Amino acid sequence: TLTTRFAPSPTGYLHVGGARTALYSWLYAQKNGGDFILRIEDTDIERSTQASVDAIMDGMNWLNLTWTHGPYFQTKRFDRYKEVIAQLLESGHAYRCYSTAEEVDAMREEAKAKGEIEKYNGLWRDRTDYPTDKPFVIRFKNPLDGDVVIKDMVKGDITISNTQLDDLIIARSDGTPTYNLTVVVDDWDMKVTHVVRGDDHVSNTPKQINILAALGADIPVYAHIPMILGDDGKRLSKRHGAVGVMQYRDDGYLPEALLNYLVRLGWSHGDKEIFSREEMIELFDLKDCNRAPSGFNTDKLIWVNQHYMKTMDPEYVAEHLAWHMKDQGINTDNGPALAEIVKVQADRVKTLKEMAEISRYFYEDFSEFDPKAVKKHLRPVVKEPLVLVKAKLAALTNWEAAPIHEAINAAAEELEVGMGKVGMPLRVATTGGGNSPSLDITLALLNKEKVLERIDLALA
Ligand code: GLU
Repeated sequence: TLTTRFAPSPTGYLHVGGARTALYSWLYAQKNGGDFILRIEDTDIERSTQASVDAIMDGMNWLNLTWTHGPYFQTKRFDRYKEVIAQLLESGHAYRCYSTAEEVDAMREEAKAKGEIEKYNGLWRDRTDYPTDKPFVIRFKNPLDGDVVIKDMVKGDITISNTQLDDLIIARSDGTPTYNLTVVVDDWDMKVTHVVRGDDHVSNTPKQINILAALGADIPVYAHIPMILGDDGKRLSKRHGAVGVMQYRDDGYLPEALLNYLVRLGWSHGDKEIFSREEMIELFDLKDCNRAPSGFNTDKLIWVNQHYMKTMDPEYVAEHLAWHMKDQGINTDNGPALAEIVKVQADRVKTLKEMAEISRYFYEDFSEFDPKAVKKHLRPVVKEPLVLVKAKLAALTNWEAAPIHEAINAAAEELEVGMGKVGMPLRVATTGGGNSPSLDITLALLNKEKVLERIDLALA
């Protein structure tokens, strides 16, 4: 089976870069009917936290990137790593190295002085005169000549000469395995066929391939994805959106919007911008990923979010809006159905958070009006239109947008003024401010009693 994996280190949130890597791995597995593994690379005990593990899984769940196997935790697999290290020693592919850190530094300096590649010089590679009672690390015996070829679906074949590579440490002096060893053992044991990861790992790949080959393991295909830059071309930082995925929920984005934005951040299919989940699965391919870094663009993310708020089933969007209403302490038990709010507000806002903010008046009475709107539309001149329109609204038996519209119109005609001269004061009186969806629809959603009550309050 084609098998991909997402292998985050739990040292922080699931940020956009990680989420995109997870998405691409997931998509490729989905597309090919394969498996998708979640593997938590938590061997850095000092920096790994349970909170980060939770944040990563929350983020993936929110984006609905479901894994078929795992989560596996590397810290639970130390016995297995020890076993493989022993196997490599046994087969002569690894050796004990007694050089101290200072000695290794000196070797590097020496190489540098000679204009050579800075690396460990292989002093203990073929020795067996091991001292007793001295600490040692275990190094992998990297081949001395020949090339390593990375089959990379994004970057094409990458060839590295073995002369460039060190005999890398696979076990520290306390016996714990190093990063490259654990990744290799896991990718091997978990039968990973396609390694999708950020291209900051590309320098590790030849080392991993050599170890895999020494173990007689199949070499996976790689897809190293270029990184994400901020819109100023610099490395993505918090300022640009390098925040946790759940922050995007808190900020009012739909998961579908973030996914759609992420799939396009580093991949394209003609000039198509909007992809449903099914379309992504059908059309995505690792080999079509961009080779150049992508720039994060918040305006585009907002545009995609607006698209989904406007076009998805309002009942579905309402479920997400409900979260924001609650988050902002707005009790929506009484008042219009949230799906109705979505229908009238979706094209007026950038995010669901904003939608919740500007919809408070549908559910809560207010004692204060927007002072600017009051000055412009409500006081001191508007008693007459409000009194008149109230009477007309009160007389309505059918509380719907069309008759409400007619009532407002009739009041304006009677007073021989434009509709705005009635509508604006009425809007401020009933919503507290000068902005709302079309007034007839707004009043229809607010119930009649509420509207009359609020007009009275404004007149008081
Ligand atoms: N744990 C690594 C990271 O979070 C990923 C390793 C890999 O994908 O091979 O950067």
